[in-house]
Amino acid sequence: MSKAIRVHAHGGPEVMILEDVATPEPGPGQVLVRHRAVGVNYIDTYFRTGAYPVASLPFTPGNEGAGEIVSVGEGVVSFKPGDHVAYVAGPGSYAEERIVDAKFVVSLPDDIPYETAAAMMLKGLTAQYLLRRTFKVEPGHTILVHAAAGGVGLILCQWAKALGCTVIGTVGSRDKEKLARENGCDHAIRYREEDFATRVKEITGNALCEVVYDGVGRATFPASLDCLKPFGMFASFGSASGAIEAFDIGLLARKGSLYATRPTLFTHIADRDVLVAMADDLFAVVRSGQVKIPVHSRLPLASAAEAHRALEGRATTGATVLLP
Ligand code: NDP
Repeated sequence: MSKAIRVHAHGGPEVMILEDVATPEPGPGQVLVRHRAVGVNYIDTYFRTGAYPVASLPFTPGNEGAGEIVSVGEGVVSFKPGDHVAYVAGPGSYAEERIVDAKFVVSLPDDIPYETAAAMMLKGLTAQYLLRRTFKVEPGHTILVHAAAGGVGLILCQWAKALGCTVIGTVGSRDKEKLARENGCDHAIRYREEDFATRVKEITGNALCEVVYDGVGRATFPASLDCLKPFGMFASFGSASGAIEAFDIGLLARKGSLYATRPTLFTHIADRDVLVAMADDLFAVVRSGQVKIPVHSRLPLASAAEAHRALEGRATTGATVLLP
């Protein structure tokens, strides 16, 4: 037996309960991982509430973790018991141990601690694909990052700055403004008090941005489109404030022949070779010191509900990890 957070019915943070569960044997192509740290992500709240579907109830939330391989299933040759690994995968991570498909697992370099790995697989790989695959930023580009002091936000801003961009970030408070500036933001806009599109026009002298990376959703749409140059890219990758409602696609023409995309990490990592290449790129920028993974909150596994309350209450910065 081992401990895991279980959700028997969708709802608020209180539906996450720590229980004893039987540890299954890994099947073909699977590995059993003993977690040393588990990442908390906004997407976990969507699965908890039922906004994103789960295969069946009860289920264990959580989509990323780091730890050691305990055992491997038939056909797994890339990993062996004792290996240090990290992964991003479907729900099941808020647990002392979990089964995960080996195709989502990568070897962890010795100099990357478990906490760092658990905090960066989902968030860091998201920053990787947004900056290197969805819209490939170049030196001299000006970009807008919403929720710049958040988990994905702080990684995106540091990495974009290292790639030579001018980074404008939106933040929900003065404390977050300071943090964003310390992590790659050339300009921080407190979007709860200021009209961010007006501020972007002022900051850029009406030149505007090549790309907007938006994980906030409803609250920042359609104003984000007003921050883009003609032919600019609106990359909507999340909806922390609620989903963007259906809109007239002609809006993109009227705002300057814009591009809009709604990418997800899981499409990018469906190809194992792509996952490994993305992880190599992420590990390289972290090991070089160009991107620091901001673990700002550490909680015991049993405190998953507290972690979700803080995340949904906009009280967190950077990443939160659960320690089993
Ligand atoms: P964050 O740490 O960024 O937390 C969410 C932040 O959103 C808050 O801290 C807050 O920052 C901001 N926010 C704005 N409005 C609201 C609101 N009404 N309620 C709550 N928060 C609000 O979370 P993550 O880094 O885990 O994820 C960021 C976004 O990226 C999420 O939307 C997530 O779903 C998405 N995501 C998408 C992926 C993909 O592949 N598509 C993969 C990974 C994440 P502030 O106070 O500064 O406004």
